[in-house]
Amino acid sequence: MRLIILGAPGSGKGTACAVLKDTYGLAHISTGDIFRENIKNGTPLGQEAKTYIDAGALVPDSVTIRMVEDRLTKDDCSKGFILDGFPRTIAQAEALDEILSKKDEAIDAVISVVTDDELIMDRVTTRRVCPSCGASYNVKYMPPKVEGKCDACGADIIQRSDDTAETVQKRLDTYYENTKPLIDFYAGRGLIVEGNNNVDPDQCISEIKSGLEARGLN
Ligand code: ADP
Ligand code: ZN
Repeated sequence: MRLIILGAPGSGKGTACAVLKDTYGLAHISTGDIFRENIKNGTPLGQEAKTYIDAGALVPDSVTIRMVEDRLTKDDCSKGFILDGFPRTIAQAEALDEILSKKDEAIDAVISVVTDDELIMDRVTTRRVCPSCGASYNVKYMPPKVEGKCDACGADIIQRSDDTAETVQKRLDTYYENTKPLIDFYAGRGLIVEGNNNVDPDQCISEIKSGLEARGLN
């Protein structure tokens, strides 16, 4: 199964991915996670990406596309993957088509996570993440069992440097300008499976699973 997941920043893509990758045994490829890993390790890629990320802007396509192409050559992708945070522009989507067609592969479905903007600002500014294993929490809605500690690995959870109100607004603007058009792009190919995350993540995930099943993906 080869999937893409689309949704505004803070729509709940990451939470859905954590479930979907386990359910279907997929490699979870999050470009945001790869950038953050590079920033943490102080690599040249991380240094370049950080300026864009902290401004709520997109890292240039040239950098991002090369990084994903390389990631897709890794062994774990052969059992299927879910792309989270990529593509984010039409140019990236076209590049992805080319990368996959060279390998005689194609995307099976594109998941669209729908969340109202009013909810997003509140959810993102109260979000916390585990820098060690990538799990995500929310101090208001999904707190960890022990305050400040990751349930899965015990590390101290943190707030992402781009999860401030000002940067979230810029990320939303960037999303509407560059990424939202991808929903029409993939709808034109009949690939969209929708999950509504306005109520709770469990409902969203069950909608996604039924949508995938209806397409014979399971
Ligand atoms: P979110 O979906 O919550 O905005 P991500 O973790 O997916 O968060 O991405 C964080 C930041 O990383 C983005 O705001 C952007 O600066 C950068 N980024 C991630 N994926 C891409 C991409 N495909 N193209 C360009 N920039 C990206
Ligand atoms: Zn953890």
